[in-house]
Amino acid sequence: MRFDIMTLFPELINSVLGESIIGRAQKSGIISVYAHNIRDYSTNKHRKVDDTPYGGGKGMLMATQPIYDCFRDISKQRGDGKSKTLYMSPRGRIFDHSVAKELAQYDNLTILCGHYEGIDQRIIDEIVDEEISIGDYVLTGGELPACIIVDAVSRLIDGVLSDQICHEDESIASGLLEYPQYTRPPVFNGKEVPEVLLSGHHANIDKWRLEKSLELTKERRPDLYKQYLDQHPNTKNNF
Ligand code: SAM
Repeated sequence: MRFDIMTLFPELINSVLGESIIGRAQKSGIISVYAHNIRDYSTNKHRKVDDTPYGGGKGMLMATQPIYDCFRDISKQRGDGKSKTLYMSPRGRIFDHSVAKELAQYDNLTILCGHYEGIDQRIIDEIVDEEISIGDYVLTGGELPACIIVDAVSRLIDGVLSDQICHEDESIASGLLEYPQYTRPPVFNGKEVPEVLLSGHHANIDKWRLEKSLELTKERRPDLYKQYLDQHPNTKNNF
């Protein structure tokens, strides 16, 4: 899968996504991430990319020309296949696991990161398929939201996670929050690892984990708990 990110701060994108699992997925060629500097496309002699808003108001808006030229260049570079262009924006559809699954079906995702007070509406109308928000708060720029999209979507692509980690078993994706996990030592500050986990009895361990997941989900996310019970009506009888 290919990600093209239009930004004023490509180093930010490269430093976040160049490390760890997503960095390795890039090196192995399972995904590719290209951070394009919008400023490089400015035809202004001072490489200006923003201007004051018509009608007055505080702050600056990112102007149409450099973004449009950047987008046209990306359109020539990215291959055939299913493509979608997103604008990271607090006005957008809220990002969650189901949106990540939906986006993982594309071959090319192009992501536009805003800065300052945002972007001239005409460029959104012209090139953007959907506005996506990562939550009901406002950040200074779209770069961190874009990295969140790339990370969450990439984890769903075959080969990005090692064979031992199955994203379908994790919180949210499984429909429940994850049970508590423990590693060595068996006793830490007087706190012991639950005995069942040391028993080697896999059926009991699975039962304990499901019980803990249900407890946690019921307490912290009653909305998810209700949804899970609706989809697994026999759960209550088994505990
Ligand atoms: N004036 C805009 C508004 O009220 O909707 C907010 C602009 S914000 C300061 C600058 C940029 O940060 C936005 O263009 C967007 O790309 C990004 N951004 C801020 N909050 C975001 C969020 N919750 N989700 C996604 N992107 C966000």
